[in-house]
Amino acid sequence: MPDHRPRPVKLRIVLLLLTSVALYAQQLPPDVILTNGKIITVDERFSIVQALAISGDRIIATGSNQTVAALAGPNTRRIDLKGRAVVPGLIDNHMHLLREATTWLRELRFDGVDSRKQAVDMLRARVNTEKPGEWIYNVGGWAHQQFADDPRSFTREELDRIAPDHPVSLQESYRMVVLNSRGLKALGIEAGKPDPPDFVKGSILRDAAGKPTGLIQGDIAAARAVANKLPRVAPEQLEASAAAMVKDVNRAGLTAVGVPGCDADVLDIFQKWKAQGRLNVRVFCITGTAAAGPEQVAQTIQQIGTLKLFQGDALIDNIAFGESVYSPLHDPMFATKSNPLPDQLAQWKRIALEIAKAGMPLHVHAELHNTIDAFLDQIEAINAEHPIHNLRWMFAHVNQINAAQLERMKKLGMYAAVNPWAVINGGTMHEDFGDAAFDLPPLTTIQNSGIVWGFGSDGTAANQFRPFTTLSFAVTGKMEGGAKVIRQTIGREDALIAHTRKNAYLVFQENNLGSLQPGKLADLVVLDRDYLTVPADQIKDIKPVMTMVGGRIVYEDAVRR
Ligand SMILES: [Zn+2]
Repeated sequence: MPDHRPRPVKLRIVLLLLTSVALYAQQLPPDVILTNGKIITVDERFSIVQALAISGDRIIATGSNQTVAALAGPNTRRIDLKGRAVVPGLIDNHMHLLREATTWLRELRFDGVDSRKQAVDMLRARVNTEKPGEWIYNVGGWAHQQFADDPRSFTREELDRIAPDHPVSLQESYRMVVLNSRGLKALGIEAGKPDPPDFVKGSILRDAAGKPTGLIQGDIAAARAVANKLPRVAPEQLEASAAAMVKDVNRAGLTAVGVPGCDADVLDIFQKWKAQGRLNVRVFCITGTAAAGPEQVAQTIQQIGTLKLFQGDALIDNIAFGESVYSPLHDPMFATKSNPLPDQLAQWKRIALEIAKAGMPLHVHAELHNTIDAFLDQIEAINAEHPIHNLRWMFAHVNQINAAQLERMKKLGMYAAVNPWAVINGGTMHEDFGDAAFDLPPLTTIQNSGIVWGFGSDGTAANQFRPFTTLSFAVTGKMEGGAKVIRQTIGREDALIAHTRKNAYLVFQENNLGSLQPGKLADLVVLDRDYLTVPADQIKDIKPVMTMVGGRIVYEDAVRR
């Protein structure tokens, strides 16, 4: 729990500040020094320094080239940054990371692919390497509006031409799935036959003659019905798949992730890596099982008493209950309006009250305007009985939040985990919401409210997961592919703070993570160009050339460095 946690790091920072020179003189030389850089520390003053020293997994000094170089001993490894910009390791406050390990190696991911031609080339390449009959698929993370050259989706016929001998399933966020003929057949969807029972009614689109078009459309449940039938990696491949996923995450600049629903089998692999000193991403689990209906509320309440939070460390821990409390009030993605009913809210409140009584943080999915209002009504009532200040309760996603709601949240000591779905779904959201989509999410309003908030992607199905794509969206208002989809943008410093230092609060690691300061863990990313000065339209193209977690290099682009 946030209030009862030990604070050794803070003490250490104070000591370092008070006794800097003397203490450094008595210390062993650092293991690594990084010099000759533009190190954007993202400390409270947004200081920029040239150099940084690391001992073990922590930063022990920052400053000028001379002061840091003077600390080096004969065995200190020296890394010349050659003038490159460095930022703290990016933190994603809400990403379904572990779940994806079961498919990552098999998926043909389109994250960051903003050309349809490139996507088709990738499909063709996969056809050449995958055995005939094997599935070629992805499970979200893209939408056709991101194709700048030709923003069209795929058709059954086109996929048949590209991949006549492979079943293909391409899922656009949670909006729709396109299947080719082999894919339809493999799922039992055929002309002249009724829809297989385990698909959402009406989600399988057919032409006037009853022939399936290849499109599966509807809400998240419609897409999941397809995804659930796609092959996972073999059990003996799971570790390799998880490793490939973590590598891609590090390559994108991420070093820590808030994970709703940490899957036990993948978490076991992460625990093993941790014990071996080779876990390359920090995982903060948002845990607990929501009640699916009134009859399950007692069970969920009982579960709250058994959940153990904050028993781990800065690599793996459980940090909050979430991301759902009571499933009937879980806003489906792409719904435009919600109507939370009093009896549903009463059940939600019963559970949330127990979470408050247990002194537990809550990280809850809350997207639509009416839902956010209704949850706030419940939380204000709960707060009167059992104060939730200092518990860091937060709403996640919040694309529809407004100024009045942010004000109520601030009064309650709540935080906002902002997950802008429009990064890939901006086109879809404009279809659904019209011009109102220009304020989804209202980033300027959120920033100006003064609430503690940070960025998450909600990847890797609902959204893409790469942080510089999110930062580009925040600064330019443009979705992947370049279409302007929101008008409330923020400055690049505020955007970076929200993806680093503020997110450290959201994952309960502000003493360890989020900025490059003496005493904090050495999680950092060396960039191929300067985030602060590169033209705004190039922020999306920024590539990490080196990523470090706890002082260890976990990703390196040898050519660029
Ligand atoms: Zn959610």
